Amino acid sequence: MNNDIKIQFLGGSNEVGSLAMVLETGGIKLLFEYGMTPSKPPAFPLPAPPVDMTLLTHSHLDHSGMIPSLCSEYDQTILTTELTGEISSLLHKDSIKIAKTEGYAPPYNSADIKEAKHSIVPVEPSQKKGIGGDHEIRSHSAGHIPGSLMFELVGSRKTLFTGDLNVIDTRLVKGTKPVQCDVLCMEGTYAGRDHPKKREELEKDFLDKIDEVVGRGGVAVLPAFAVSRSQELALVIRKAGYNVWFDGMGRKVSKMFLKYPKYLRSAENLKKALNKINMVHSDHGRKLALNSEVIITSSGMMDGGPVLSYMNHLRNDPKNAVLLTGYQVEGTNSRLLVDKGKLNFYGVIENVECEVEYFDFSAHAGHSELVEFAKGCNPEKIVLFHSDNRKALEEPLKDVAEVYSPNTGELLEL
Ligand SMILES: [Zn+2]
Repeated sequence: MNNDIKIQFLGGSNEVGSLAMVLETGGIKLLFEYGMTPSKPPAFPLPAPPVDMTLLTHSHLDHSGMIPSLCSEYDQTILTTELTGEISSLLHKDSIKIAKTEGYAPPYNSADIKEAKHSIVPVEPSQKKGIGGDHEIRSHSAGHIPGSLMFELVGSRKTLFTGDLNVIDTRLVKGTKPVQCDVLCMEGTYAGRDHPKKREELEKDFLDKIDEVVGRGGVAVLPAFAVSRSQELALVIRKAGYNVWFDGMGRKVSKMFLKYPKYLRSAENLKKALNKINMVHSDHGRKLALNSEVIITSSGMMDGGPVLSYMNHLRNDPKNAVLLTGYQVEGTNSRLLVDKGKLNFYGVIENVECEVEYFDFSAHAGHSELVEFAKGCNPEKIVLFHSDNRKALEEPLKDVAEVYSPNTGELLEL
């Protein structure tokens, strides 16, 4: 049997966004992810060819965002966890809403979203699944967010596709471990950057800062992604006894997490953490939140969501603080806040007098952790993607394996 592996990225090879990779070997063709970049306007990967199966590692839009558009064209079989299926659906519906408010044509409709949900064949971490021929898919937990997977394709050779991965234990999920393989397709979001602090230290500094803000009579606003970061922060602050309010889509996502406790490090802890937090359900709740101590709310990059209405009220008081916990992508509102101390309120740019600080609560492995992970997989070949700085990883990985950094559209034969 021909054991060549052909790989082509349709997007997301040299950027964090719009990820999609086609892999062909021994008579089967697979699509890994079909994402989008939620920029203005949104960006999409190249059109996908018909494939035998689509594999989705997790729900974040840069990985899952365009999955429904596949379903409007061909019948699909989509391998992913049930939790990823549910959260993706929620995010897909939201992205149609956002496209409409911002005046862009949505790339799919609600019928496509339903179809995508029906096309899912659920898999679990540590599960093996025959997919025809001599091929098998083994799934492994990716340690990135609840329900996230890495996929190992086992044929005459073993190929591992990591999606987004994290190796350290966070409050929400346990970190992943290397998987022995011949070809390693690995993300590189943090290529060239290490996380400056250990988690325990970071958590302590974060809580100290909230103490300081609350102590001077201010409100600490924590803009956070609805999927995973909001819940991680809820867990981090759960024992501190603050008056906390939670707003935005993260409330729904929390319920989904609790519905699938098997993907959580401790469902019990998450339940306890969320029970201590007040949920905003109305304008009245929003008013109470404004007079509380801590507000956790979407969106993480402050480009929309309830966070802007809170900031509109809180921005003029230097006693208040915005504590960012996610990476600020170029061109986003949170980046504008960090760089210039300003926020764009739906077209009107205003000064922000609050203190602004960034805490690196990333769900991605840092540079050195990626290198260690790759070494542990002991591959012959490494394909890097999902990174705007793959060069930084090529150098240290050269001694581990042959390293490839293909461009989008380029055909790689391994
Ligand atoms: Zn992700």
